[in-house]
Amino acid sequence: MFSDYWQFLDSSLTSISNGFIDVAYSLLRRPLKDDLLILESILANYNDFIYKFSSKNSAELLAIDRLRPEEKILIIEKAVNKIELKTFDAKTIYEFRYSKSNAIGFENKWQPASHLFTLCKGYKTEDGSINIAGPSINDENSDYKYYYSILPNILFYSFQVVTSIYKEIFEKEYNVPEMVIERIIEGITIINNTIYPEYKPYDEFNKNYIFKCKYCSEEVKYKKNIEKQILTSATFKCSNQHINDFFETD
Ligand SMILES: [Zn+2]
Repeated sequence: MFSDYWQFLDSSLTSISNGFIDVAYSLLRRPLKDDLLILESILANYNDFIYKFSSKNSAELLAIDRLRPEEKILIIEKAVNKIELKTFDAKTIYEFRYSKSNAIGFENKWQPASHLFTLCKGYKTEDGSINIAGPSINDENSDYKYYYSILPNILFYSFQVVTSIYKEIFEKEYNVPEMVIERIIEGITIINNTIYPEYKPYDEFNKNYIFKCKYCSEEVKYKKNIEKQILTSATFKCSNQHINDFFETD
């Protein structure tokens, strides 16, 4: 299941880096709407999932489209309660992936990216127009910014759903170096600071975070100028002007 999720995700990430925004968005539909909900169902209630999966009418019982919104939210809520580092609450995670009436949802992008003509309320194709795949990206493109701000949050959440399944159901540790997790949280916090300044689940973590220069071991405290540098170049500098790669965690 995770392999299916990852194949779509990986192709989506490749597409966006090539500037194919609509293709990149289209490829997120299945992993975020279907695969992730199955993974969440497994984490939420493994026995219930196995029971449904072994039933004669398993397709009917597990088809995502057959679940009512409140049933989906309940599954997500149970999964959220089992992960260690919270991102968004269950309702917000639901809205990102399923809500057709919410401005922050992926449906805003999926509808025009998946259909040449849409009649759906809020995304209706203008008369005399057609939803052709968009032009190449630039920094000011809001679709591009949206992709790179929301997706890291969802990926971090998905990663925790999978590691929690490992831990809870298969009783196996999925060891990830602590520093990798710290940098992911730090990265997500920096993104959210610019996109959702009112939403700060890791604000304290952020304020107290210390970067260590790998060349001179100087401790660099998190500050606005460091945040800006990480956002624009994925690096941070110590006072001796050594440039450290933000993602290098060895
Ligand atoms: Zn240094």
